[in-house]
Amino acid sequence: MYRIGQGLDFHRLEINQERPLILGGALLDSEYALVGHSDADIVIHALADAILGAMGLGDIGQHFPDTDPSLKNMDSSIILKKTLDLSKEKGFQLVNIDCTLMGERPKIAPHRTKIQSSLSSLLNLPEDCVSIKATTTEKMGALGRTEGLGASCVVLMEKK
Ligand SMILES: [Zn+2]
Repeated sequence: MYRIGQGLDFHRLEINQERPLILGGALLDSEYALVGHSDADIVIHALADAILGAMGLGDIGQHFPDTDPSLKNMDSSIILKKTLDLSKEKGFQLVNIDCTLMGERPKIAPHRTKIQSSLSSLLNLPEDCVSIKATTTEKMGALGRTEGLGASCVVLMEKK
């Protein structure tokens, strides 16, 4: 049996040399950083939501509430790992993921392969099953004004 899931996440963006930019678990060299309670890794947040969605198990807000002080500045790869553990318990296995980043800045192209290989290793999936794409909003709206960055992720899961 196959199940599809999708997830979306947005965080505010700031120019901050002190705070790292982390996307898909990869630490990226950038003047920009995402603002959030955890490490604000929108790719992992959208991905974990997609995995939970595929299994019909709610969203990361339920499983990892941002009011929980233990999650402050937490490495989101831990959220991903816990979500994957849960999927294993339920007998699900990831087949492939397809993610699109949305925003004007930072440009994703120079970071794409680093994000892809980070996720490939976190998910234990071959790189051709981990797709990372990016689009702008043609300078429209908040994302167009570089006030934030968004991520959309679709996953296919197989229940053994
Ligand atoms: Zn988030």
